Amino acid sequence: MNRWIAQLLIWIVVFTSVCPFKARAQTEPDPPPQAPPQVVVPILMYHHIGGRADRYHVTQEMFECQMDYLGQNGFTAVSIDQIAIALKGGPALSPKPIAITFDDGWRRQFTATLPALTRNNLRATFFIISSHAERYSGFMSFDLLRQIRDAGMWIGSHTVSHAHLPGLSAKRLWYELRASRDVLEAALEQPVTILAYPGGAYNERVMRAAAQAGYVAAVAIGGQAEQHSSHLYALQRIEVNGSWSKEDFIAVVEKPFAQARSPIPSAEPAP
Ligand SMILES: [Zn+2]
Repeated sequence: MNRWIAQLLIWIVVFTSVCPFKARAQTEPDPPPQAPPQVVVPILMYHHIGGRADRYHVTQEMFECQMDYLGQNGFTAVSIDQIAIALKGGPALSPKPIAITFDDGWRRQFTATLPALTRNNLRATFFIISSHAERYSGFMSFDLLRQIRDAGMWIGSHTVSHAHLPGLSAKRLWYELRASRDVLEAALEQPVTILAYPGGAYNERVMRAAAQAGYVAAVAIGGQAEQHSSHLYALQRIEVNGSWSKEDFIAVVEKPFAQARSPIPSAEPAP
């Protein structure tokens, strides 16, 4: 009988020392899951500057008025790379950060944007269609792109041919993402690490391919100023519509910061 009691005691000791439930009960409770980092930064999207105002055309006067407003009201222009770094837990962005982006690399963007940007100490990101820069006179050449780089602007890829990415084969998708990056890096002699999806079109497969092709972040559309670390390959941009008044523009760029500054209401009324 004593042998059975001894064996039972040994089993109890062994069981309690390896039992995962016991081990869990003795440790601290799991910390609550941390919300993924987010930053508030409107990323503005422009296409054409000049011409008659419509969805894709902001007049020269209105564009200059908008840049003057940003320059005179405490905004700091940041790059998409800086936003990605902040979302990964790196240095926080400056107060009232804003990102200004131009799609397609139209030649007119060179003369229409640089004076208003530079006089307001603003830097912007230009997303370039690499084959258009190589071939077509209506788009900024590599020489002009080197000039905007030297003026402090940032340059990202807008693919090789402005293809609708979700519909492509794996091989063609890789070509659009990787070859545009390689061509721009060779022409600019600097890393190209950010991407804008043509037409804002993407899906899970496109986002995975963008990461594999070496981009650290990609911008879509979406209209929000809140950027989340779980959406590094679908950062939200706000399309600046040419039909907006100056007041419309001010409301769009100021509202995210007004909301961030407003105090969080207390759950219980103060005594
Ligand atoms: Zn485009």
